[in-house]
Amino acid sequence: MLRDLFSTMAKQTIKDVNLSGQHVFVRVDYNVPMEETDGAMVSNDDTRIKATLPTLDHLVAQGAKIILAAHLGRPKGNRDPSMSLRPVAERLADLIARPVAFVDESIGDKVRNTAESLQAGDLLLIENVRYHSEEEANDADFAEQLAGIASAYVNDAFGAAHRAHASTAGVAKVIAQRGGPCVAGLLMERELQFLGEELDSPKRPFVVILGGAKVSDKIAVIDRLLEKADTLLIGGAMAYTFKLAMGLQVGHSLVEPDKVELAKAAMEKAKAKGIQLLVPTDNTIVTPVVTDRLNKKGKPILEFQNPRHNTDPNIPETEEGVDIGSETASTYAGEIAKAKTILWNGPMGIFEDERFAVGTFAVAKAVAEATQNNGAKSIIGGGDSVKALNRSGLGDSVTFMSTGGGASLEFLEGKPLPGVAALMDRPA
Ligand code: ADP
Ligand code: MG
Repeated sequence: MLRDLFSTMAKQTIKDVNLSGQHVFVRVDYNVPMEETDGAMVSNDDTRIKATLPTLDHLVAQGAKIILAAHLGRPKGNRDPSMSLRPVAERLADLIARPVAFVDESIGDKVRNTAESLQAGDLLLIENVRYHSEEEANDADFAEQLAGIASAYVNDAFGAAHRAHASTAGVAKVIAQRGGPCVAGLLMERELQFLGEELDSPKRPFVVILGGAKVSDKIAVIDRLLEKADTLLIGGAMAYTFKLAMGLQVGHSLVEPDKVELAKAAMEKAKAKGIQLLVPTDNTIVTPVVTDRLNKKGKPILEFQNPRHNTDPNIPETEEGVDIGSETASTYAGEIAKAKTILWNGPMGIFEDERFAVGTFAVAKAVAEATQNNGAKSIIGGGDSVKALNRSGLGDSVTFMSTGGGASLEFLEGKPLPGVAALMDRPA
């Protein structure tokens, strides 16, 4: 069953319980991008590690004995040394300015002995839980071993909460059976607050900006937002499926002809509910030219030649739309300027190529200005959207950027997240 709109049963957090002296199993999201430097793997982006510091500082101050668990990459049950969490333990120790013990196992005697030797406020990071295939299988016996000597469970890994794995769901069940508390960390709490409560009763106008690659990825979100939003601004490749639904031509643009009916239904629903749904009126088009170079998958690399402004509602047969145009950007900025609540998911164009980042950056600027000048609340979800916003240099000028990626999308779709469901509700 789907959750009731965006509302989610309020969850207890580490602020609601006293974990002093307890062994606390803390699931964090340390799935950080790694790169090889001088023969060693190092993290080249600390965002996710830093995001856990408020929770860890709180637990340290309370005198908890902290056992951290996380996954890194997709080792698929194998001990792939390039996906070890050891470098993350070192980085965390620098950031939190305390020693962080590391054990190169996730379960077993070594983990138990180190956990038993922890003093109040000490930290231990165990090895990548996905070195065991039982993690993703949510194996009950593995969850029991993973829980080890812990008497409390904290989940601060919103980005992994859409998966029912041993460390996100199984361990919570074990701890609950032991009568121990299962609560949200402070990052998890913020995610649930902004993606849940804030959007459940938004200050109006509530303007939603949707873009990205595919209608099929976002249709469930569109459908739910049509219950809440005042205005929907459509961009990205998704817009071309809407254009097709309007009987317009989209040339070689990325489009999903089999999703035209869904787009039509969304437009009709918007109309029936009096919701403004805007589709780009102009765009940047390019001539895609097949080169003789091959990509990793062995397919010819396309080169986007001759970028230019197209003001015709149709896109010529041989051309591809890669960004919203200046007229659309300014119309969208005008709508964003009126907003009191803004939700943005999905870039307006192929922002990875700076020639086609113009529309996305214009929208980013409008969102930042509405936040800073008009007191609008702006919430950004989706991995690529956050990347685009950071690239625009305006990441600090919005209210909240979700760390959730795929989890934030599933949450916005109204799916219950197993990692959240496993936590204790706040008493009514
Ligand atoms: P998010 O991760 O924020 O949810 P998506 O994954 O749905 O966003 O979409 C991001 C991708 O959409 C980007 O890689 C971007 O290049 C692509 N995209 C945006 N506009 C277009 C377009 N006009 N044509 C092709 N791809 C596009
Ligand atoms: Mg994405």
